[in-house]
Amino acid sequence: MTDVTSPCPPEVSPAVLSDSAAVLFGLEDQFSVLDVERVDSTIVKVVVEVTAREGPCPGCGVLTSAVKERPAARLKDLPALGQRVELWWRKRRLLCREKLCPRRSFTQACEAVRPRGRITERLRDGLATAIAGSNRAVSDVAAEYGVSWPTAHRALIGSAARWLPEPTPTTVLGIDETRFRTVRWILDGITWKRSDPWLTSFVDCSADGPGSLLGLAPGRTGGCVKEWLAAQTPQFRDAIATVVIDPSAPYASGIRAALPDAVIAVDKWHLVALAHTMVTEVRQRVTRAQLGRRGTTADPVWVNRRMLLTGAEHLSAKQWQRLWAGFDEHNDPTQEIQAAWAVKERLRMLLRQTEPSKIRWALADFYETVIDAHLPEATRLAGTIERWWPAVLVALTTGITNARTEGFNRIIKQTKRVGCGFRNMINYQRRILAHIAVTRPRWSAA
Ligand SMILES: [Zn+2]
Repeated sequence: MTDVTSPCPPEVSPAVLSDSAAVLFGLEDQFSVLDVERVDSTIVKVVVEVTAREGPCPGCGVLTSAVKERPAARLKDLPALGQRVELWWRKRRLLCREKLCPRRSFTQACEAVRPRGRITERLRDGLATAIAGSNRAVSDVAAEYGVSWPTAHRALIGSAARWLPEPTPTTVLGIDETRFRTVRWILDGITWKRSDPWLTSFVDCSADGPGSLLGLAPGRTGGCVKEWLAAQTPQFRDAIATVVIDPSAPYASGIRAALPDAVIAVDKWHLVALAHTMVTEVRQRVTRAQLGRRGTTADPVWVNRRMLLTGAEHLSAKQWQRLWAGFDEHNDPTQEIQAAWAVKERLRMLLRQTEPSKIRWALADFYETVIDAHLPEATRLAGTIERWWPAVLVALTTGITNARTEGFNRIIKQTKRVGCGFRNMINYQRRILAHIAVTRPRWSAA
């Protein structure tokens, strides 16, 4: 029986112990551990060498095992068992014995570390996954793994290039905008230039597709849509039958120029949002005219402002009573708020229709309500519907919406918050796409 106090059981040879140490550090595929030493309470020094004693000469390809030198290189690696690992790799500088080979000597290479690399490939992957996977700040991850910010960032860039696949073709392309930061004026030589703080996102909005974020482009002009589409493959452009957007004229002109055969649909939720803005504008104008100030908790119209924007079918009997009480001669003396509310409800009814004959009736009904309302705000809304009618009709008959794009806008804004704002647009786009690629494997598999 083995003496329990002996430092090493006699039947275990040093070679076997070395192998188990390699397993402990997860290095056994290519390395053997020569020595493990404690540096301080949180850092261990591990000396390793490549298990294979010979290597092919890069000049002639002939295998050699003649060692010229054993230089040691210090590498950063993943932490092991909660301890930071300082990896010392005793390299082999091998001699080529082929007489005709111009190469005299070379350093043995291995897959775990790139030539002249200072960190292991698995640490590089770990850094990139930590940053992109949970949407953490680069500085935070760099501090945890004991590397510099540029090292962690370079790891992310390298992995992002591998993770981000070419956009897969879709029949329905959704285009939407998010604000990337507040407007700034930048001094460019002697003139001031306005920075464009918008980001356009391109999303697969088809009913059967994976529903992924396909790409991002800085700006929100027709030009940025055109440029992004021009950078895609002809197959990608040809597959697009419908493009769904908010009622934005620059986007529409960009799409018409880049995809002359595609049909434009306008997102109906954006139209409902426009109707809500219209009701709010009327309410605020009436309150100002009546009271000479903005609404407060003392004004029933202001208290019920959210109810005005709730769909009529979602109101309870009690809420209906309160809503109608708000339309009396005291709160709404000119009946303009009620008229605006009726226009909004007619628009919602119109946007619920899917059959062409019913759509025609609902549209006539909507226009009639607008004419009866005599409100400049409602007339402006009707003008928007009229201008965008072909695109609205496409949305109603096909049921296509931009809801998926809105979902990605949330992730985009979250990424902005983590980075406390990004100065570099390319980094910002990469972070968003990498985060989505890592957290949505369905997409990276596509
Ligand atoms: Zn050689």
